[in-house]
Amino acid sequence: MTLNIDSKINEIKGIGERQTSLFEKLNIFTVKDLVFHIPFRYQDTSSVISIQEFKELGKGTFLAKIDDVKTTYFRKKITTVKVSDENESLRLTFFNQPYLQKVFVKDDIYIFDAKISEKGSKKNIYNPKFEQFKYDPNNQTHLGKLIGIYPETSGLSSRTIRSRIKTVEENIEDFLIDPLNTKQISELEIDTLSTAIRNIHFPKDQNDVDKAKERLSFDEMLKVAIRIEKENLKREKQKAKAMNIKSKDINKFIKNLPYKLTNDQNKALEEILEDTSKVKPMNRLLNGDVGSGKTVVAAITILNTIKNGYSCILLAPTTVLAKQHQNTFDKLFEDTDIKVELCISSNKNISSYDNKLIIGTHAILFEKTLPKDLNLVVIDEQHRFGVEQREYFKQKNGYTPHYLTMTATPIPRSLTEIFFGGLDVSEIKEKPSNRQDIKTYYTPALKRDSCFEWVKGKIVESKFENQAFIIYPLIEESEKLASKSIMTEIEYLKKKFKGLNVEYLHGRLKEKEKNSLLEKFRNKEIHILISTTVIEVGIDIPDATIMVIEDADRFGLAQLHQLRGRVGRSAKESFCFVIPNENVEKDSPAEKRLKYFAQHNSGFEVSEYDLQSRGPGEVYGLKQSGIPLFKVADIHDTKMLSKARKFAKKLLKEDNSIENILENLFR
Ligand code: ADP
Ligand code: MG
Repeated sequence: MTLNIDSKINEIKGIGERQTSLFEKLNIFTVKDLVFHIPFRYQDTSSVISIQEFKELGKGTFLAKIDDVKTTYFRKKITTVKVSDENESLRLTFFNQPYLQKVFVKDDIYIFDAKISEKGSKKNIYNPKFEQFKYDPNNQTHLGKLIGIYPETSGLSSRTIRSRIKTVEENIEDFLIDPLNTKQISELEIDTLSTAIRNIHFPKDQNDVDKAKERLSFDEMLKVAIRIEKENLKREKQKAKAMNIKSKDINKFIKNLPYKLTNDQNKALEEILEDTSKVKPMNRLLNGDVGSGKTVVAAITILNTIKNGYSCILLAPTTVLAKQHQNTFDKLFEDTDIKVELCISSNKNISSYDNKLIIGTHAILFEKTLPKDLNLVVIDEQHRFGVEQREYFKQKNGYTPHYLTMTATPIPRSLTEIFFGGLDVSEIKEKPSNRQDIKTYYTPALKRDSCFEWVKGKIVESKFENQAFIIYPLIEESEKLASKSIMTEIEYLKKKFKGLNVEYLHGRLKEKEKNSLLEKFRNKEIHILISTTVIEVGIDIPDATIMVIEDADRFGLAQLHQLRGRVGRSAKESFCFVIPNENVEKDSPAEKRLKYFAQHNSGFEVSEYDLQSRGPGEVYGLKQSGIPLFKVADIHDTKMLSKARKFAKKLLKEDNSIENILENLFR
């Protein structure tokens, strides 16, 4: 029976039942899965040294002749192999591999890659890597060349994975379908897919690896690019209602604000109004720092839309935030005749009036009676909304509304390209001028107690004008995680803050209880609010000036920044304390991350740092966010994305093989 790309791996020679289940642990079920299991790094064993040099260096790759093999069965099975070259000899020790007794034949020549372990004056070489010498590096599979190191699982080493791929290597050309044709490949100046796959596993040099990666990244990026360009194409055919810029109303509104707009706010506003004056629906991302004042920019856009005679929808990620927005907009639009309606799960009734603002959660996505004159959708604190939900708002009369999406935390440029590739981006980096930096302190676990003393003093000293948040990663103690929780700490905190009103808020509370606690906090009936990250996004309580985050190492920096953004929302001096868990060691990456955070106030800086040091998966939770998980491509490689987008655009225009291409693209 001949193999094909969809053959089960147990049809490959050498893969039995036991190994099949090990491969399955790595999500490898078919030949295709196997050849697309990509090394995550390479080890260069191509420079071979003499045994003498090996002894001096303590590690390396050397050639040696087998002199003698002996296996003893005392407690452990130990195979001792004596080897030599022209000048020196060595003794190698293998544990529990008695079959090696038969593998090593006297006078055969092997390549070894090994390390000398020293224990006192004793030097030993345990379980070295080995492969019979084949006189030509092209014939070597494991040593004497650049070799791939794979994601492994216990019982399945890179060596075994490499061997199994080697078994099917010859067939790769026959059974891999290249999604791109010869002409396209030569125009793009990239490897064919089979060359790339062959070279990613068995490169002759670094250049082979680089070229192979380039091809595979291109394929990965092309998938994203086709999605982006398809969306763009669709949007080019869509029509929104073009709107005038109602300068008189806008200027009056701005003049009535208790503050001056920042330059970045003004610039974003200009870009938005320019977009909405066109028939092509706006699709803009307002990428702004926490507290940079995105809401008022949205408000002016909404005002302009309504003054043009159309309706708007403002989507918030939670009910709490929808209600907060309702309050904010009621106040902002106090002197106007704009109608604001709330639509949340407990109150879904939308009136039949035209020319209004509806504020709500995604519950309204499923509402059937959307205003017929809808011409603007604002999505606040994007993170929880997928792009696909936009489709809901397509109008029956053939019109599509303009879209404005606001980020919850600043998203680094490299990510917006991939995540929101089809969107235009306005950035608000500047903070309102009355704002001071939030003084942030890295507070070692040992100083936790005195930190709380200080917080208490500060609140009392302000005559209970200032308020504090204390944040925990968990509600209840967890057996799995040695992490603090609200429930384990509440008694301690109540004692510590005796005389102050301390309450706690968490995601398991009913909506009503949550709202009433927040209301009490807003009215200063509560001095210290203890919470999980339900408080994370958007909550605006200007007199809260102190933020304490416990087990801060458990949070990503973007999330910490979002939490820190809950204070410093007025001209008052504000403070943030990040306290790591006791287990966080000195000079550990976790400590470094938190110290970096304490020294940087810009959300763009901290999210970039987190992205660089931990990768997008850790930072944004790839599954929820819709960011593609690349195996080979670098998410920061905007050049590659542009190349792929250009190609995708051409494909979509000229080539109808696109479905076939998509079908066969690498993941
Ligand atoms: P975010 O961008 O995080 O959504 P908000 O829109 O909630 O921030 O704004 C935070 C606070 O800053 C609000 O209380 C708002 O009234 C205020 N604000 C907005 N713009 C300015 C400005 N230009 N000057 C001073 N305060 C401002
Ligand atoms: Mg906001």
